[in-house]
Amino acid sequence: MSNARRSERGPMMTGGTPLRSLDEEELLGHIFPAFPPGADLVVAPGDDAAVLRTSDRTIATTDTVVLGRDWLDAWSSGADIGHKVVAQNLADVAAMGGVPTGVLVTLVADPELSLEWVLDHVRGLAEVCTAAGVAVLGGDLSSAPPGVVMVSVTALGRLDGEPVLRSGARPGDVLAVHGSLGLADAGLRLLQADAPDRLPEATERQRRPEPPLAAGPQAAAGGATAMLDVSDGLLRDGGRIARASRVVLDLDLSALVPDVDALADVLGAEQALDCVLAGGEEHSLLATFPAGVLPAGWRAIGTVRAVRDDEAPAILVGGRVVTHTGWDHFRAT
Ligand SMILES: [Mg+2]
Repeated sequence: MSNARRSERGPMMTGGTPLRSLDEEELLGHIFPAFPPGADLVVAPGDDAAVLRTSDRTIATTDTVVLGRDWLDAWSSGADIGHKVVAQNLADVAAMGGVPTGVLVTLVADPELSLEWVLDHVRGLAEVCTAAGVAVLGGDLSSAPPGVVMVSVTALGRLDGEPVLRSGARPGDVLAVHGSLGLADAGLRLLQADAPDRLPEATERQRRPEPPLAAGPQAAAGGATAMLDVSDGLLRDGGRIARASRVVLDLDLSALVPDVDALADVLGAEQALDCVLAGGEEHSLLATFPAGVLPAGWRAIGTVRAVRDDEAPAILVGGRVVTHTGWDHFRAT
């Protein structure tokens, strides 16, 4: 990727003003003004701790991304990473049926990291928080050995009803998805092939996931029996619902044809199907509903049935076991 192309993606991580030239208060003075005021914020960041007004049931979740493991400087700007790490956390809140209310952000970085990258990063995460009505409650800054940059986000959410677990799917339910499938993985493949412009929508989804946050609480209110966000791939995440609920999920391939067709012109049919079945980082919502109650925006992609004798809980495609397993952080590929 050329330098011209890289600079379009926002400030680079080094060059500009290194963090080591600022003390912590100066740095925070640059960062705090970018944060949106949350509706439920009682005490804003800047004191010993923030104070958030919340319901009696609070959802908590966390996610960490590491330079070189979870992103490459050449592919993603600071703003992209800020967007992504917040969005994937908020997706987990939505997947429980909750409404995200606040995030805490910790940055651990090589002091050579540029202030410009940090401010770009803060802009990206503030944009997502603003769009979702989520307060930035504070966080932490710490220095790291050369080359290390790590961002950790903890999200809190409000739960007005019962949480939607992975374990509630029942035989006879419909398996449904809200959002796209395979787009983010297609984007990753195009970035790896140095061809991000062949399907810009996919590259953009890989850099900046757009979880359907409102669909989570809507699904909970609409009777969803099980739910999660597709972070590691349809088959892998569907398998989690199947095992937790002790049922068999059976995907209807014909329902996935539009998802495959959207990618097949660029990637070919085989890779497109692989993205749709096994592609991670999409953060669409996958849920099961009693037959006949699918809320608006959800589309049926399969069915739920009881396990038969000598059969383990699993996700099948057209009644058959398939070998795609989705992304696994600890498995060598
Ligand atoms: Mg999740």
